[in-house]
Amino acid sequence: MSKTDTLEVDQTSESINRSETFLKIDGLTKVYDDGGSGVVAVDDMNINIKEGEFIVFVGPSGCGKSTTLRSVAGLEEITEGQIVINGENVEGQPPRQRDIAMVFQSYALYPHMTVRENMEYPLKVRGVPKEERERRVEESAALLEIPELLDRQPKDLSGGQQQRVALGRAIVREPRVFLFDEPLSNLDAKLRVQMRTELNKLHNKIGKTSIYVTHDQAEAMTLSDRVVVMNDGEVQQIAPPQQVYDQPANEFVGGFMGSPSMNFFDATVNTETEEITTDAFTIPLPEWMQEELDRTGEFDARFGVRPEDITVDRQKAGETDTSHTTVDVVVVEEMGSNFFLTVENNNVEYKAIVEPDANIERGDALHLDFNLDKCHLFDAATGDTLVYEIQR
Ligand code: ADP
Repeated sequence: MSKTDTLEVDQTSESINRSETFLKIDGLTKVYDDGGSGVVAVDDMNINIKEGEFIVFVGPSGCGKSTTLRSVAGLEEITEGQIVINGENVEGQPPRQRDIAMVFQSYALYPHMTVRENMEYPLKVRGVPKEERERRVEESAALLEIPELLDRQPKDLSGGQQQRVALGRAIVREPRVFLFDEPLSNLDAKLRVQMRTELNKLHNKIGKTSIYVTHDQAEAMTLSDRVVVMNDGEVQQIAPPQQVYDQPANEFVGGFMGSPSMNFFDATVNTETEEITTDAFTIPLPEWMQEELDRTGEFDARFGVRPEDITVDRQKAGETDTSHTTVDVVVVEEMGSNFFLTVENNNVEYKAIVEPDANIERGDALHLDFNLDKCHLFDAATGDTLVYEIQR
């Protein structure tokens, strides 16, 4: 069952019409004034977000994620384009009027107030009556499984608990849209993974339209209904996470999503001899690639293969069959559930993730197979995929 299916059967989101756009980012461009020609932080971004969808913007630092989020929130004046929420262009509306709640990396709790008072505060300033405030705080605390924390001070909470309270403060408002700006970055690695699951559960219960910004591709993969991969102010791909992973629109997306990263090689493709040749190896051009390619003959390309799509075959070591390659093991990283290998062939290094095997050691000559169903080819000049049809 996909995340969206889960949401559709959710009791609280029965009335949601998932086929219609709820939040539209239409031609958003933001140029910051730097005294010169300006910094283009976001360049012509377009996305239609359905009600209840969880959208994650991911990309390296400085790619324009926060600027996009802040523009939706009304914290930035946009240079071009429009933000449309529930059919209404929100241009000129201050943040409060947009009925959006934002959760930041810093919890920004008021230190002199209890958790209950912190959660109540946004309702108080909006003039919500006391009884209603109490009901909403109790409900949100139950949802976040923190009722026992309500009378504590922020200083008596762990980082994870403080972040839950910050979430609670957003939830009590019952906003139309949630915006999350790297909310888990301050937590240690283990807690981050735990909170990711908690956020997933929470979204399944609440079912509100959400935009989440992160530089962490694992968060993007695990939280999103759809991922928006950005680089340099531009959208690279918008698709469900597994599709982004399996069919990256370009070399940037292929390299950014997944850890360790996809291996890339300068390659020559020959559709007559049906071979892909790199400095490290020659492998057969798979039939499915041949069918997808819209060029024939010999041409330069970039060949991509993910480390987990490479396997070890000790039986074939030394054979010269073209579908296999023999490499030297340079580094073995024993990760427990698998081994990360750095291997070298003809002065080209790349990575493989293989089953743990006590017999694999540095200096070994190993025989590798590539999963030809899962390899990638990109245009040598533009980096765009040559083998997948990408819907934009
Ligand atoms: P991200 O959230 O992906 O790290 P940002 O949206 O914060 O990226 O920034 C995008 C680009 O805009 C960067 O080049 C950044 O330096 C620039 N930028 C962000 N805020 C400002 C600002 N207030 N003034 C000038 N440039 C800015």
